[in-house]
Amino acid sequence: MRPEFRTFRDHPEVSVLIVGGGINGIGLFDELALQGIDVLLVEKSDFCAGTSAAMTRVIHGGLRYLENAEFRLVRESLRERNRLIRNAPHYVKPLPTTIPIFSWTSGMVAGVRNLLNWPTKPGNRGAVLIKTGLTLYDFLAGRKSPLPRHRFRSRRAALELRPALNPEVICTATYYDAKITYPERLCLELVEDAEAACSEAHAMNYVRLQSAAGGTVVLHDEVSGESCEVRPKVVVNATGAWIDATNREFGRKSQFIGGTKGSHIVLDHPELVKATGDDMIYFVNRDGRICIFYAVQGKVIAGATDIPTEDPDAVCDEGEVDYLLESMRQAFPGIKVDRSHVVFRFCGVRPLPRSNALTPGQISRDHSFPVLPAGNGIDFPIYSLVGGKWTTFRALAEQVADEILRVLGRKRVRSSADVPIGGGKGYPRMPEGTGLPQDRLLTLQERYGTGADSVVAYMQAGPDAPLNCHPGYSRREIEYIALNERVVHLDDLIMRRTLMGLLGEVNRPLLEELASIVSPVLGWPEEKAAAEIERTAQLLRKVHGAMAAA
Ligand SMILES: Cc1cc2nc3c(=O)[nH]c(=O)nc-3n(C[C@H](O)[C@H](O)[C@H](O)COP(=O)(O)OP(=O)(O)OC[C@H]3O[C@@H](n4cnc5c(N)ncnc54)[C@H](O)[C@@H]3O)c2cc1C
Repeated sequence: MRPEFRTFRDHPEVSVLIVGGGINGIGLFDELALQGIDVLLVEKSDFCAGTSAAMTRVIHGGLRYLENAEFRLVRESLRERNRLIRNAPHYVKPLPTTIPIFSWTSGMVAGVRNLLNWPTKPGNRGAVLIKTGLTLYDFLAGRKSPLPRHRFRSRRAALELRPALNPEVICTATYYDAKITYPERLCLELVEDAEAACSEAHAMNYVRLQSAAGGTVVLHDEVSGESCEVRPKVVVNATGAWIDATNREFGRKSQFIGGTKGSHIVLDHPELVKATGDDMIYFVNRDGRICIFYAVQGKVIAGATDIPTEDPDAVCDEGEVDYLLESMRQAFPGIKVDRSHVVFRFCGVRPLPRSNALTPGQISRDHSFPVLPAGNGIDFPIYSLVGGKWTTFRALAEQVADEILRVLGRKRVRSSADVPIGGGKGYPRMPEGTGLPQDRLLTLQERYGTGADSVVAYMQAGPDAPLNCHPGYSRREIEYIALNERVVHLDDLIMRRTLMGLLGEVNRPLLEELASIVSPVLGWPEEKAAAEIERTAQLLRKVHGAMAAA
């Protein structure tokens, strides 16, 4: 039995139960732990395996939200973006973003109508509108923004720098946001920081909400099949696109969510990597929708679609792949790009509030936390975390924590605003005296921040060697992850502790090699290892259209 289940069997009372371990649930878990609150988080799958893993991997203010006159949201997002650059510098890095522009004055009428609250479908955006938006964006980012201000380039300069760009361009604008290199690892680091900050904060992956009655909630361990009862004072439903389904499991009706699915594809295409350069390309399609492309470790990520759906488990479909490929052809007409270049695809459902907006893009990305008060056979209030963005998780957590502290009659003891996260503490310190080559140390620093100290210490405590099928990782590095990073399934390792899955690098020999390393650490007998390989291969093929040839 899990040690936490044993503890709760003897003492089932807990102040706060958070159901859902995406960024919003985990952000709140961290915030409450910082206040010394006893809090339990359960996640039915792995941490950050839902929508939080399907993001574009951009920490941004939301330039586009200016069109909906959401100035408060943009200001808050920019503030949180700047904080994440400071608090998680190992994973959150500046990202120049270039907008190719094809007209001087387009979009002004729609822009003015939207500002006056007459919702209008956005079309192409011309240089004047973009200049206005970027000036405002820089202003809202504040004087203390760690990022440079925007700049325009003439057609000639833009094509000189990026010759593959559509030659119909009249100029480009470049502004700055940030990319997040390992959102899944940052979630795990937040979990670990929270547990270190408060001995009564516990988070468990692969544990789901089973049922609830009166003041009791039954939790189910997805691995062992065991159950455990807890008695929370407050419940937070942080299950994102599953929020209404989860409230039903509590016996409560809600219609909070009007989700939209968003898909990305990852392409293995060196010419496109060169064409995008170091920038994210923010491309406005002929239909007015925005697609972004940028390079990540030698591959290009392109996304995202925005399509209403009722299915929280939606997957990327063929139409979306076609749409994204077509956008890339519009941006770089001279580059041949087709399905043969796609090595991975992923999809997530935005847990947006139900809305009557004209287009999905016009639904607000702001957050809220409606409460279902105790009643209908349930003795505790349930707060649902609706909407929001990855970028603003801390702001949402702070606001919800203040409300929960009020309900519990407790006081805030600490702000999370300036608390460094995980391997961001003491960054950019490098492990010393290791004898490892500089480029290997830099890679480890990029992967673990200052957490690289412990990884290197473990690697050097025994004979080590690069993986046969992926020499960028070593055997003891993988062993370290399996031992210390709550890996339950093989796909946790390739999808969320490393980028092997996202980058389309996984083939059967690699899965076999990884399984042979983690099996002794996790106590997997031969049949279990074989089942894990099969499970991961199926997931890659069926959900992610991936599985590189050997
Ligand atoms: C395509 C796309 C691109 C995006 N890009 C960006 C971006 O670049 N930048 C940005 O800031 N934001 C971005 N977002 C928004 C951001 O990703 C989401 O707002 C955020 O991840 C939502 O997090 P969440 O924790 O609410 O939901 P989730 O991450 O989905 O977490 C909910 C969790 O609840 C779990 N769960 C469900 N039911 C149960 C149960 N019964 N018991 C236990 N656990 C349960 C699920 O397994 C899941 O892990 C993007 C979203 C999408 C879809």
